[in-house]
Amino acid sequence: MAKVGINIATGSLQKDEIIVGIDLGTTNSLVAFINSNQQPYALNDMEGNTIVPSIVHFTQGGETTVGLEAKQHLIEDPQHTVYSVKRLLGKSFSDLKNIQQYFGFKILDEDTEGLVKIKIYDKYYTAIEISALLLKELKARAEHYLKTPVKRAVITVPAYFNDSQRQATRDAGKLAGLDVLRIVNEPTAASLAYGLGLDQNEHQNIAVYDLGGGTFDISILSLHQGVFEVLSTNGDTFLGGDDFDKTIINYWIQQNNNITEQILANKSLSQWLRLKAEEVKKQLSFEENLVLHENGWILDLSRAKFNALILPFIERSIECCEKALADSGLQGNEISNVVMVGGSTRIPLVKQNVSAFFKDSILFDSLNPDEVVALGAAIEADILAGNRSDILLLDVTPLSLGIETLGGLMDTLIPRNSKIPTKAARQYTTSIDGQSNIKINVFQGERDLVSENRKLATFDLRGVPAMPAGLPKVEVAFQLNADGILTVSAKELRSGISQEIEVKPQYGLTDDEVEKMLLDSLVNAQQDVETRMMVEAKTEAQQLIYLTERFLEKNADMLTTEEKDGTKQKIEDLRVSLATEDKNSILKYNEALNEFTAPFAERVMDKAIAIAMKGKQI
Ligand code: ADP
Ligand code: MG
Repeated sequence: MAKVGINIATGSLQKDEIIVGIDLGTTNSLVAFINSNQQPYALNDMEGNTIVPSIVHFTQGGETTVGLEAKQHLIEDPQHTVYSVKRLLGKSFSDLKNIQQYFGFKILDEDTEGLVKIKIYDKYYTAIEISALLLKELKARAEHYLKTPVKRAVITVPAYFNDSQRQATRDAGKLAGLDVLRIVNEPTAASLAYGLGLDQNEHQNIAVYDLGGGTFDISILSLHQGVFEVLSTNGDTFLGGDDFDKTIINYWIQQNNNITEQILANKSLSQWLRLKAEEVKKQLSFEENLVLHENGWILDLSRAKFNALILPFIERSIECCEKALADSGLQGNEISNVVMVGGSTRIPLVKQNVSAFFKDSILFDSLNPDEVVALGAAIEADILAGNRSDILLLDVTPLSLGIETLGGLMDTLIPRNSKIPTKAARQYTTSIDGQSNIKINVFQGERDLVSENRKLATFDLRGVPAMPAGLPKVEVAFQLNADGILTVSAKELRSGISQEIEVKPQYGLTDDEVEKMLLDSLVNAQQDVETRMMVEAKTEAQQLIYLTERFLEKNADMLTTEEKDGTKQKIEDLRVSLATEDKNSILKYNEALNEFTAPFAERVMDKAIAIAMKGKQI
């Protein structure tokens, strides 16, 4: 194996290898890098598009197309065309119940807290897998353009993304064959693209206004000695350019005296109208008036009319700005710059309203608002690569720290490359009834199975009162101080029982060993994520069997013979599939058992199944 130098401070491999910056967006995604002129540059396709629509289409044979090509299928084959997958990332079905009808493809309705699954033909996908397909496309684009393998990346996420959404983004990168050096907040990346944060001496507050296709985010950041701190975020997860397109369509339908139902029933016509609306909207950002005579329709729209149509939406975004500003504890005049992000900020009326609201601030809008997040991610990548001697790299932890969860999986609490000091906490639960001793195993390393990582410590949380599986709430907290000492504490929140331990993760670990651990994780990345998903599918199935059998036992007298026999048969099918090591088959029988029991589980109103599996199990 080739010897590769490693930077202990950053935990990164030192080679003249390119690290790309990726904006993995809800509507569109992009990849950028720092070119030979030291400038961030977004990579484009043959036609010059830097944007890759975040859409994946599946054929019955399981072949996929990504991006513009996949977008063509959105109307004619909605069940098999996955869009807005970022909305699902790191979420369970219960998080999504209210927005389920927004998607044209099938999302599985499961009674668990596990990651939500999408069903396409007879296969099951998590949002991680779909995101990995998008990332692979971006990776391929970069490799094609740069004519060299691209293995490392910085990926951006919204500032409000929680721990589980960030972890899911990392996993998607891993599955796409990318070593994700860091997850960066989108507003931070956008600010970096404008050079903010590159001077260690500056201290100021920034607002980042991001109006994309389907979502609106406003973030207030404080910048101090090169560190961005998120003071507050606000926004609307269903507000963006798509809404503008829809109001234009409604207006045109009125103008042409046509009947809405007929148009909406005609899929190709409504698709055509949608594309025309977006086209006209974009042009109105630069022109005053547009009239099209096409297909017997008169499609006219003036800038003034357009402004009147979209004003209510813009006002909603400004209300979010007011709330974010209030939550940040700052006055408007304390915000020195407003960074404009997202395609929809090209609209002049948007700029006017944002300027008027942040009247004491300078509006940053000179960069391409589609690209600004990816460009900033490329700058962050360059900093991490140690290419900017002017920027001090803070101390970071070279290897990830986490605990073992059910099935021998590594659950990372502090990802590698995190700046220290740092802390993280997460809640877990038990998988067996009446567990009074809960074992916490602490590990270090990048592999998905703890057996491949380095064990740092182990301790028991003793004397937890007997409770059914899934009920205890065990909060595990990691605190890594500036000297690299890790304090792990565990507390069962219902009983208050707690326990704590201190370890020094770097103790007895040589640079060579760290290097070897990193290389192993790179080589095995894809296999590792697949193994993890397999283990997760299996533990989910085993858990479902356990719970269903307990349910049968308890409620036998309230069930009919058919219900009991049918359930037993479905359990048996699931057991058989468990032995096959075939993930899709396990998920299929899992779904079948769930579907079969759902009607009478509801009738019997046994809450056992509902409360079970709230959170990961240890
Ligand atoms: P996301 O961050 O959600 O992935 P983007 O930042 O790429 O989305 O923004 C996409 C939206 O920007 C689309 O609704 C698109 O129509 C809109 N858009 C792009 N260019 C313009 C323009 N010139 N004028 C108005 N809207 C535009
Ligand atoms: Mg975006």
